[in-house]
Amino acid sequence: MIVAVERKACDSFRQFCEMNGEVEVERPSHCPRPKEECGSLRPMRRNGSYPKQVIYWGLLFVLAILRFRCGRCGRTVSRPYSWLVPYKRFSAEVIATAIDEYASSESSYRELSDSLSEAEFVEEQDDVRQSKLFVQQKESLSEARTKKDGSRPSHTTVFRWVEYACRQAESSIQQLQKELIRRGKDLKQLPPESAIENANTYKARSKTKAEELDRLAFATVAARGLLDEGKRPWRKLRTYFLAKAEFCKDLLTSTPTGCQLHRLCNLRSAEVF
Ligand SMILES: [Zn+2]
Repeated sequence: MIVAVERKACDSFRQFCEMNGEVEVERPSHCPRPKEECGSLRPMRRNGSYPKQVIYWGLLFVLAILRFRCGRCGRTVSRPYSWLVPYKRFSAEVIATAIDEYASSESSYRELSDSLSEAEFVEEQDDVRQSKLFVQQKESLSEARTKKDGSRPSHTTVFRWVEYACRQAESSIQQLQKELIRRGKDLKQLPPESAIENANTYKARSKTKAEELDRLAFATVAARGLLDEGKRPWRKLRTYFLAKAEFCKDLLTSTPTGCQLHRLCNLRSAEVF
């Protein structure tokens, strides 16, 4: 089971690099298994770590992810950072940027594969090349890059990220509309749904895909309205859905979320994958 590290401890890869990876990872205060399976309310114990590759704009890092064990049922929980996506090597920042770009401007999966694999293309606020961690690991990082070890997402990988967001677009819009209402925003301030077209729709090979792409573009406009976030709202939207939305979900993966004991938990259910 995966229980993400609290966002207050570290909420972006850039912050992690600036902290030189020295983030305090708290042990889970209880076993997240449901009562029928365990339900122990004792804190879990440290149980080693495992290496996890993280790819961030063409830079490949290897981090240690801590594991904890329940004293009663013996099962383990790992605690990755919230900016990692379960079972994916690319950070949430990179995946969300791919969706932002394909939803908002004419682009191709190949072009995105290029721009997501070059540190030169990273926005200034995300650049980690001045951080302690980068400076210390620089040699091993450049070595990793010259080995061509897959620090670039292939165009089919980018396609899969966008495809997943497209398939979820309709349900994301429904949830976004609920959240806009919950936050007291006027839905009439959004442009009419039929007015929003995706600049990549003309390339779609089916009517369904064309509609999904337009819906993804509309979801992106609605996300901007909800979060007052300009160009690239998907990263913030993912965090919002995990931390604040009525309906907690990770927009970047279908891995189930939710801690069965979250009502007893000092973590929000949203902090738990
Ligand atoms: Zn247990």
